[in-house]
Amino acid sequence: MIPIPWNVEIVVLVDKVNHIEVIGVHESSETNFNHRVVSSVDELQEFAKEVKFPTHGLLLRPDHESHKKIIKDITSDEKLIDAFHRCLKESKHNRVFVETDMRAHRNPTRMNNIQKATQHMVDQLLTRCPVCQCPGFVITSKVKGLPCECCGEPTQLVLKHIYSCQRCKYQEDKMYPHGVKGEARYCDWCNP
Ligand SMILES: [Zn+2]
Ligand SMILES: [Zn+2]
Repeated sequence: MIPIPWNVEIVVLVDKVNHIEVIGVHESSETNFNHRVVSSVDELQEFAKEVKFPTHGLLLRPDHESHKKIIKDITSDEKLIDAFHRCLKESKHNRVFVETDMRAHRNPTRMNNIQKATQHMVDQLLTRCPVCQCPGFVITSKVKGLPCECCGEPTQLVLKHIYSCQRCKYQEDKMYPHGVKGEARYCDWCNP
């Protein structure tokens, strides 16, 4: 397991008319999340370029990540250099801690991922319950046990999805969402 920055965005729609909640999720390795300790304008500008400044925001502090002074909303090279010198003046060790601004309104990479999470939510809202027509007829559980292609024993692969209506509680099974047989390499008998 190699730790890499990972972005999970979640959007929730609370529908007070139908008394339902629909959730959209998007997970991605697309993120500019990063930080660095710098002691010169050159080092700062190199970092800024790597993390897509100025379209993406930066936060600066003197010395370290928990220093109580923080400079936000830096929108140009001029303001960046000015913020660097202000932090340096208050620094005890002649260095500045710079990090990416992960607030959504200053981070277009996050905005893009939030858009995808929202699309996921909309897709779910567009599926309706076949009985009561309530929006959000979605997968609420997955049942494992797809038969192995060689021995026919149940594997760890998905056999069926269960869709549920939050309003009338109607449920429907959709069998074999990824095919009718599982590859033997996922079988506990053929490939223990
Ligand atoms: Zn098998
Ligand atoms: Zn229903």
